[in-house]
Amino acid sequence: MIGAGIGGLAAAIGLRRRGWSVSVLERAPVIAEVGAGLTLWPNAVKALAALGVDVSDRGVPTISRGNILTPGGRWVRRNHPDDVGVLAIHRADLHDVLRKALPESVLHTDTEVTAVTTDGTVRCAGEERRADLVIAADGVNSLTRRTLWSGDAVFQHRTIWRGVTPSGSVWPVRESLSMGRGEQVGVLPLPDERVYWFLTANEPRPNVLYADNQAEVLRRIGTWHHPIPDLVNATPEDQVLHNDMLDIDPVPTFVKDRVVLLGDAAHAMTPDLGQGACQALEDAVVLAAYVDDLARYDSERRARVQPMMAAARAGVARNSDTNALRHLVLLAAARVVPPAAWRKATAQWADWESPVIP
Ligand SMILES: Cc1cc2nc3c(=O)[nH]c(=O)nc-3n(C[C@H](O)[C@H](O)[C@H](O)COP(=O)(O)OP(=O)(O)OC[C@H]3O[C@@H](n4cnc5c(N)ncnc54)[C@H](O)[C@@H]3O)c2cc1C
Repeated sequence: MIGAGIGGLAAAIGLRRRGWSVSVLERAPVIAEVGAGLTLWPNAVKALAALGVDVSDRGVPTISRGNILTPGGRWVRRNHPDDVGVLAIHRADLHDVLRKALPESVLHTDTEVTAVTTDGTVRCAGEERRADLVIAADGVNSLTRRTLWSGDAVFQHRTIWRGVTPSGSVWPVRESLSMGRGEQVGVLPLPDERVYWFLTANEPRPNVLYADNQAEVLRRIGTWHHPIPDLVNATPEDQVLHNDMLDIDPVPTFVKDRVVLLGDAAHAMTPDLGQGACQALEDAVVLAAYVDDLARYDSERRARVQPMMAAARAGVARNSDTNALRHLVLLAAARVVPPAAWRKATAQWADWESPVIP
């Protein structure tokens, strides 16, 4: 297994349940996840259950994208009983639960893979290792995909700032998505009275760095409705994260001989659907279920996830649009759209039947 992110750890758990002997090679010196919050849709919760992992006490059941407001705080739409629930969790907590489901002996840190070949050979730490199967869960910039397949990550001209407030500093809050022109702010309560917030915005060039991310966020949304400025102010400056939004073009197969792509390495998408990690968890379950039939893993996973990649790109086009008239039409549609159509627009990917891992 290359990579100890959410996808790599979940796949390692699944394959061990099938009786496979697994080694997880991770280039970072410690296996940990920084990041901020994450929404786990019902499909991800099912995938975790199939892996025997329970995170229910680590997350807050909530509704994602149910309460919609304008930047000034006017209500556009309120949660409806038919909206699909999610589990809001801190990334570090999900990662911690997955890591603890594996014995330490499986995890190899400070181990960067520098080459992979389709016969199952990987080069790391100056030596070659052979495996029956190499699972490349090495993220959006996957070395494996770039060398054995093709295609670099694609910058989507969008950027995102994220943070988590310390316990109780701004509390209580309710879940919300506030929609400006080309800018959106999300707020999700986490356990222990912490709050996950994010700001997505347009960015013409990749890799733009800001000297003070907190100040930059406040410059953009410091006048938005309560409690948005308070949440940003309450987040320690050095914990405001900033990333460009990247995805990849679809690849024609997830499997080449003894090498399998999984998670962002296979299908990185922008966070517009909130499904990236959820799909990595689904990959892990389907791989464990059909590890003896990799063609099935390939066809089932591409059929499921590649339409989602297209939908995420459509989400980028919609969310980046700064046209005033179209923005008003979008808000008006959110006001009047029937709950069933809202559910389809926001949560159509949450339905999924998990295979049973034998
Ligand atoms: C801002 C943001 C918000 C998001 N919100 C959500 C959300 O709400 N819900 C959701 O489901 N998804 C969300 N996602 C997507 C989600 O974070 C990713 O899809 C998910 O983390 C991918 O996991 P992964 O294990 O495939 O890759 P990664 O998490 O990128 O892990 C890859 C691992 O491989 C290691 N690695 C890389 N190269 C090598 C190498 N050569 N040798 C050894 N190790 C290597 C890396 O160090 C890393 O640990 C969001 C993404 C972003 C950017």
